[in-house]
Amino acid sequence: MSAFKALGLNDELLQAITDMGFETPSEVQEQAIPILLEEDTDLVALAQTGTGKTAAFGFPMLQKIDVASRTTQGLILSPTRELCMQITNEMKSYGKHMKGLNVVAIYGGASISDQARQIKKGAQIIVATPGRMKDMISRRMIDISKIEYCVLDEADEMLNMGFHEDITEILSHSPQEKSTWLFSATMPREVASIAKEFMYQPQEITVGSKNTGSENVTHEYYLVNARDRYQALKRLADANPEIFSVVFCRTKRDTQKVAEQLIQDGYSAGAIHGDLSQNQRDIVMKQFRSRQIQMMVATDVAARGIDVDNITHVINYQLPDEVETYTHRSGRTGRAGNQGISIVIVSKSEVRKIRSIEKKIQKKFEVKEVPSGMEICEKQLMHLANNIKDTEINDDIEAYLPAINESLEDFSKEELIKKFFSVEFTRFYNYYNKAKDINVKPGHEKDYRDDTGSTRFFLNVGEKDDFNWMSLKDLLKEVLNLGKDDVYKVDVKDSFSFFNVDEKHKDLVTSVFADFEIEGRKVNVEESSGGGGGRKGGGRGRGGRSGGRGRSGGGGYKGGRRRDDDRGGRSSGGYKGKRSSDGGSSDSSKRGRFGGSSEGKSRFSGKRRGKSKPEGGGTGGRRRRD
Ligand code: ADP
Ligand code: MG
Repeated sequence: MSAFKALGLNDELLQAITDMGFETPSEVQEQAIPILLEEDTDLVALAQTGTGKTAAFGFPMLQKIDVASRTTQGLILSPTRELCMQITNEMKSYGKHMKGLNVVAIYGGASISDQARQIKKGAQIIVATPGRMKDMISRRMIDISKIEYCVLDEADEMLNMGFHEDITEILSHSPQEKSTWLFSATMPREVASIAKEFMYQPQEITVGSKNTGSENVTHEYYLVNARDRYQALKRLADANPEIFSVVFCRTKRDTQKVAEQLIQDGYSAGAIHGDLSQNQRDIVMKQFRSRQIQMMVATDVAARGIDVDNITHVINYQLPDEVETYTHRSGRTGRAGNQGISIVIVSKSEVRKIRSIEKKIQKKFEVKEVPSGMEICEKQLMHLANNIKDTEINDDIEAYLPAINESLEDFSKEELIKKFFSVEFTRFYNYYNKAKDINVKPGHEKDYRDDTGSTRFFLNVGEKDDFNWMSLKDLLKEVLNLGKDDVYKVDVKDSFSFFNVDEKHKDLVTSVFADFEIEGRKVNVEESSGGGGGRKGGGRGRGGRSGGRGRSGGGGYKGGRRRDDDRGGRSSGGYKGKRSSDGGSSDSSKRGRFGGSSEGKSRFSGKRRGKSKPEGGGTGGRRRRD
């Protein structure tokens, strides 16, 4: 308290500070308050979200205005309605012992005439979003020609949101000789340039070092194919049962989509973005604060309103365009002395962005692997074991024990433990036990392949069958359900072809092609012993070692195939029909890439190893948090 007094604050403010329970000033407050109280100066203050910037400008502004006058003396511009209301409420509680103080919030989406009426009563301080403010100035509902203090709060975000012109327009109605205080979490070029445009010899303070994140945050990235992004997110969440995180997406649409998907998959997730009503946002924020929501999916702008400590992970589901935004995102964790992890899920083409972030924040990212299904099962089991260990016994359970004991009396303690844990284990096991590895090995760039760990296959179709390397690659990707970089070195010869897949997909190829037809003709695929060269297998020609197909490549696969036969016709119903009865709907099937062969009759038949089995299933791997 005396520390606040030492900053030069008056009794009315000190009283409010006591009421609010603030004990010591935050760093930005300590630096900014004395300067702003003592001098009439412009100021640029850089500090992360949650560092107490509102009071850093709010206390001095309140102390400096004249409450006896009804003239508008202070203007605070803020990017969103949410923040605008937050600041207004803070200012009101800071100034609650100041008789006659009137702080008015001006923002879009609410009645303009109500707001105009409040202004008319005389507001010494206006807190506004730029859009509505500009509107009301042009309608002469607000007069800022006498303001002495102007705050640009979250300046970087206002610029990101395209408010530059509105700000220019608004400030053109304000006097030259006012003081302008700019507060921002980051200092991208645009902010530096408005500082130049609107300010005169500003003093500069920086809390923490510029552009670098908190010391308490470690940075990790996970390299996956773009289509596996969501799956990676899910696995990371499952591998961290105690996760309490903000998941950042770039657009409102993606934010909504990812949150919906998480909820559907049984996670306690929520979304916060600009398309939600104030009421909806309040509800999810409250749920997040009380931890009913473990994963808050957010846009960058909406996340500014999240004032929650103890966030364990920041997850960059998509990287932002600006490195500064990354800094801001990762600063959501590792606060108040806690350790935090900032995770980025990237595809190969984004790795260079990681490098430029590293340069900026002067910290190295650690490349991590998305945990395997079995690691996740183990984590979940240990989590359960620890939960049980820490659970306090509820004495009210006594009444039910005789019945419970009776029904379980035949089991030993060991058996009971096994059974009990199997409930949880089976749930995850069923979901994850066949889950494929979604990690992309770093350095596996598109045009460079190291053939170790790669298998070359021979296939008895070629140009004669109207394939070129592109169409064959498309077919292989489709039937194997692999990504565009997973099938490579496709060489199409006259009556046969070759292609490579990574070692890990070898069994998949063998089993899918164990029984596969193209236009009614059995296709033979076998491992080419020639490694990268390809000539070797050529001599075998069509048909090859036909026994290969009789031996089923992958255990239960044959049976599965037979079931399929029962459902759909063999060749004429074709590949397409079967796919739709599988419910499969990959992009390429929508584009109908394979439909071209003629009037919907497909050339291909064979069971497709559906991705919907281990990976996309809606029901497995659910998590409850009651
Ligand atoms: P920022 O604008 O930097 O994101 P805020 O001004 O919104 O941060 O402050 C974040 C939270 O910290 C608010 O709830 C505020 O009331 C609280 N706060 C601010 N200053 C202090 C302080 N000195 N001691 C304790 N809490 C504080
Ligand atoms: Mg703020």
